[in-house]
Amino acid sequence: MIERNAYIGGCDGVSAVSSAELIGEKPLGTMAHSLMICVGDEKKAFKAFNAAVEPEVRRVALVDTFQDEKFGALTAAEALGQKLYAVRLDTPSSRRGDFLKIMREVRWELDTRGFRDVKIFLSGGLDEYDILRYNSYADAYGVGTAISNAPVVDFAFDIVEVEGQPRAKRGKMSGKKQTFRCPECEARILAPFNDTEILCPCGGTGEPLLTQYIENGEIVKDLQSAQDIRRRVMSEIENRTIEPGA
Ligand SMILES: [Zn+2]
Repeated sequence: MIERNAYIGGCDGVSAVSSAELIGEKPLGTMAHSLMICVGDEKKAFKAFNAAVEPEVRRVALVDTFQDEKFGALTAAEALGQKLYAVRLDTPSSRRGDFLKIMREVRWELDTRGFRDVKIFLSGGLDEYDILRYNSYADAYGVGTAISNAPVVDFAFDIVEVEGQPRAKRGKMSGKKQTFRCPECEARILAPFNDTEILCPCGGTGEPLLTQYIENGEIVKDLQSAQDIRRRVMSEIENRTIEPGA
């Protein structure tokens, strides 16, 4: 579910095989440090990966296991030649130093040897702020911890209606409610459940968000695919005019 959420929230792909199956995508990944450690030599490991893995899988060489990233990238280029798709830098934060300078060096060394098309893939404790900082050199990111959990949404179950009669404790608004979304400005509008036409201050007409999906334990409505949800999320982000949290 974490990977499904990452995908519908805008990530391009997921790496766990069963998660990818769940959302109907092909799993994407690079190489593991365990491969380098078991083989004991980066160049041999790159060649072994290249020999064993299906040709349609992109060759993304992990270049920071035993040596400096710059020399690791050149080793990968030597081992795989034009088959090298990207180098992955998974430099731990304890060793990171000036990551922009490390990437600039890697980019420079690859470029001067004719590997301009080789991309740079970053991973290791990255969050959305790092990504903004590193975008000038990095082409792709592997993100885990920063999005594998979310801030808690504070909620509680309260009785607000008894046998059709609005009734709630002090501090709570009584009666069954509907939440409407304005398709124009993304605003959320709370209204009594039986209200059907809700006008947003911006002029848009609110669409109800609460829909019945399960009745007597049976799913009664078609579920959207992860791809459809992701498309909608991306378009909402694209069109978003209000500030997050507003
Ligand atoms: Zn609106």
